[in-house]
Amino acid sequence: MTERGYTSWGRFPQINQLGRSFAWRSDELPVTSEDTDSLLPYGNGRSYGDVCLNRGGIVLSTRGLNRFINFDPEAGILRCEAGVLLAEILQLIVPAGWFLAVSPGTRYATVGGALANDVHGKNHHQAGAFGCHVIAFELLRSDGSRNLCSREENKELFGATIGGLGLTGLITWVELQLRPVNGSMLKEETLKFANVDEFFHLSEASDQDFEYTVAWVDCASKGDSLGRGLFARANHVPSETVQAKVDLEPRISVPFQLPCSLINGFTLKMFNAWWYRRQRERRKTRKVHFQPFFYPLDSIGNWNLMYGPKGLLQYQCVLPGEDGREVLRQMLAIIAQSGNGSFLAVLKIFGERLSPGLLSFPRPGVTLALDFPNSPDVFRLLDRLDDMTREVGGAVYPAKDARMSADSFHSYFPAYEKFSEYVDPDFSSSFWRRVSGDEL
Ligand SMILES: Cc1cc2nc3c(=O)[nH]c(=O)nc-3n(C[C@H](O)[C@H](O)[C@H](O)COP(=O)(O)OP(=O)(O)OC[C@H]3O[C@@H](n4cnc5c(N)ncnc54)[C@H](O)[C@@H]3O)c2cc1C
Repeated sequence: MTERGYTSWGRFPQINQLGRSFAWRSDELPVTSEDTDSLLPYGNGRSYGDVCLNRGGIVLSTRGLNRFINFDPEAGILRCEAGVLLAEILQLIVPAGWFLAVSPGTRYATVGGALANDVHGKNHHQAGAFGCHVIAFELLRSDGSRNLCSREENKELFGATIGGLGLTGLITWVELQLRPVNGSMLKEETLKFANVDEFFHLSEASDQDFEYTVAWVDCASKGDSLGRGLFARANHVPSETVQAKVDLEPRISVPFQLPCSLINGFTLKMFNAWWYRRQRERRKTRKVHFQPFFYPLDSIGNWNLMYGPKGLLQYQCVLPGEDGREVLRQMLAIIAQSGNGSFLAVLKIFGERLSPGLLSFPRPGVTLALDFPNSPDVFRLLDRLDDMTREVGGAVYPAKDARMSADSFHSYFPAYEKFSEYVDPDFSSSFWRRVSGDEL
């Protein structure tokens, strides 16, 4: 076992913990005792906060579980080990005419990590979350049992593990249903919108005909321009040649951690105004390869280092119903007023399709995601946004959280008590101890 600083993408909190690497799916779990504390699976650390961290415990690093087990190119069914990256899956399946049914905004997540956070993508309004497309997986528990989980077999463990934040055991392999494509290209339209009301109109007008919709929002804009931005909508289109190459590493990277954050009120305002004006036309259309469309942030490696030594906090909430729309307006005004905020603030409407995951985050409503440089002011701001999210019956995304309170968690995830019954007694995380009120 090695001790090293396993980090999450936000680089906050920073924790030293023991790591045990898994190299084969029949490896056994380490035995814990009262002194050696708890276990937690660790995929590729692309979660922003502490769901993949386990202060004082052991993380089970899964990147060695990197083998494909079976691929049926007729039916589009893939079985692979849990540490395979989504990028590696795309490299295999796109030339064969298939794509991930749901993909998050990074291809550097592992399939096990994507399942355990029940990630969502730009097609949530049509396809639901990742868990909707999981056929089966194997779950290794600390009692040594290997449980085949599907909608028919061990279905309670199936539901608890999808979005189960790594707490129900170690997923060793996953079987996925893919969606067919005819090439690697999409046709994308980008439309400028002048304020948040226009965003809602565009979403309503697009969600039926476009498989992928998402908006970037200028979170520094105020007044009549509050919530202005760029709305992207796209569909896969046939392409004669398949540019199958998927970058397993970014081509350029931030080489080292900057001594202080480059992100401040001034740079944010400048960037947001420039990005909004960069597109002169109201509507722009292009054919685009799936890599820049789905994974724009992956093009610069280690971009998180730009936030300096204190790291960053992501915040993603979902706000349901008509009241949620009003709360979104209030939140955008508070964020703009605070002078904190994000280069990349994202808005999207989640659809009605529910995931089998007990603790799944996506639910019908509007979702806002943005990141902030870590500072005491930001903690106060996010506490305020939490209160607003709670009042409207919404939720905050654990995959991006490092600070929500136990009370907030219980309100966001009413299935929490039922879920707790399936938590493996030897598994825990820094996140879990905080939100279950069991912090050391
Ligand atoms: C640039 C960027 C864009 C993103 N965009 C999106 C987005 O659009 N939508 C979205 O939903 N998320 C998004 N995310 C978040 C990211 O997709 C998720 O946090 C994902 O779960 C990370 O996967 P990972 O393999 O790195 O897992 P980790 O972050 O290492 O772990 C995530 C969780 O999975 C558990 N886990 C990992 N492997 C296993 C296993 N084998 N068995 C059991 N549990 C396991 C861990 O214990 C932990 O709780 C984004 C992240 C980044 C950095």
